[in-house]
Amino acid sequence: MSYTIAITGRPNVGKSTFFNRLLEQRKAIVDDVSGVTRDRQYGVAEWIGKSFNVIDTGGFVAHSDDVFEREIRKQVHIAIEEANAIIFMVDVTTGITNLDQEMAELLRKSPKPVYLVVNKVDNHARMLEASEFYSLGFKNIFFVSSISGTGTGELLDEVCAAIPTEIEEEKNELPKFAIIGQPNVGKSSLLNALTGKERTIVSNIAGTTRDSIHTTYNLFNKEFILIDTAGIRRKTKVNEDLEFYSVIRAVKAVDEADVCLIVLDAKSGITAQDLNIFSLCVKKGKGIVVLVNKWDLVEKGTNTARDYEKVLKQKLAPFKDVPIMFISATEKLRILQSMEMAIKVYENRQQKIATSKLNDVMLKATEAYHAPVVRGHPLKIKYVTQLPTVVPSFAFFCNYPEDVKPAYKNYLENQLRENFHFTGVPIRIFFRKK
Ligand code: GDP
Ligand code: GDP
Repeated sequence: MSYTIAITGRPNVGKSTFFNRLLEQRKAIVDDVSGVTRDRQYGVAEWIGKSFNVIDTGGFVAHSDDVFEREIRKQVHIAIEEANAIIFMVDVTTGITNLDQEMAELLRKSPKPVYLVVNKVDNHARMLEASEFYSLGFKNIFFVSSISGTGTGELLDEVCAAIPTEIEEEKNELPKFAIIGQPNVGKSSLLNALTGKERTIVSNIAGTTRDSIHTTYNLFNKEFILIDTAGIRRKTKVNEDLEFYSVIRAVKAVDEADVCLIVLDAKSGITAQDLNIFSLCVKKGKGIVVLVNKWDLVEKGTNTARDYEKVLKQKLAPFKDVPIMFISATEKLRILQSMEMAIKVYENRQQKIATSKLNDVMLKATEAYHAPVVRGHPLKIKYVTQLPTVVPSFAFFCNYPEDVKPAYKNYLENQLRENFHFTGVPIRIFFRKK
């Protein structure tokens, strides 16, 4: 299920302040997967049991004055095209500016819901001033203070009411693999190498509302669907170089996929944006394979691959149990192996471990290494079970669930990884009272 909200508005209205507030709310509620937030352009927000992607378009605007308004206009177009809903933020302290007017004009034509959010309404006097924004002509108007949080709950209630409730995942759907990566790393070439077709400009797709190209692929009698985020990017030339565009596409592809194939250029290595996408995949519990492409261009000594992998894993930490493949799309080097690896990761993510076997192994592990004693009482884990969730999750029933320290949780996760096959798959661990 994928629902994406774009926050638009001119600079300094408070988009990133608001955005951080949204994400922190989630952080306070669920923080199953440890991981650092590396950047703050997009993330997952949660409110009354619903979750959605939030993208702060402000993070993508170039900082030079002459391209500025044009850039913002482009972002609005992309937001309307790509997002499910749009938050249009304005600033009560400046009143309505020309740029606000211009953006409003574009956004009024949006078929998607637009929430006009008047920010910095910190007190009653400003509430009165804020009424001028009714003249922009939006039905959904909210007055908030991102700094204090006033009014944001009401806004989120409304936003979440428009999100369709989770649809049961269809059972026998084919595995979906998304090919994700920065422009020019070789995503299209990889697709070409696999399908043997030159998919240049995808004219048949232009003008359709499909999000990405799906190609059904059959390898050694295993069928799967490749989700290609590269091809569509070329549908309108204008958008090609826009980071915002590729990012919003990637974010949506991650939602759709079971396994994400993150493609890197061996020469340029992993970028901050790649690490963001990686963290997002981890947070969403997606299977992951990292493909280091253009390996043919790298001069190789005895340990080149090993050393490369070591450095890369340090950057991926804390989630390091990820397969890394060195490939060349144009030389067709290890292309099929990387798909086999993706299938393996898919299967790892699907597996359900029998409770008896799980308890055999894991109770032994808790005996072998006891949790440190907290407040005078030893932790006793009595029973482990895998929960019936899409993302592999384990509940450890114990006497003092709230006292389990992160280090011990890591130990248990490592034990699960050592004894069962979860390579490439983020797993979740919960402690419950027994
Ligand atoms: P962006 O450029 O739209 O992302 O704006 P920022 O989030 O960077 O905020 C611009 C400035 O407005 C910062 O100095 C914020 O502290 C301030 N600001 C943001 N929200 C509020 C608010 O609700 N009330 C007040 N008084 N200031 C705010
Ligand atoms: P995309 O934007 O990620 O879809 O990247 P493309 O598939 O369009 O590739 C960008 C450029 O890199 C093209 O000139 C490709 O020929 C080149 N390229 C892609 N894969 C490889 C590779 O494995 N080795 C080399 N040497 N060049 C590659």
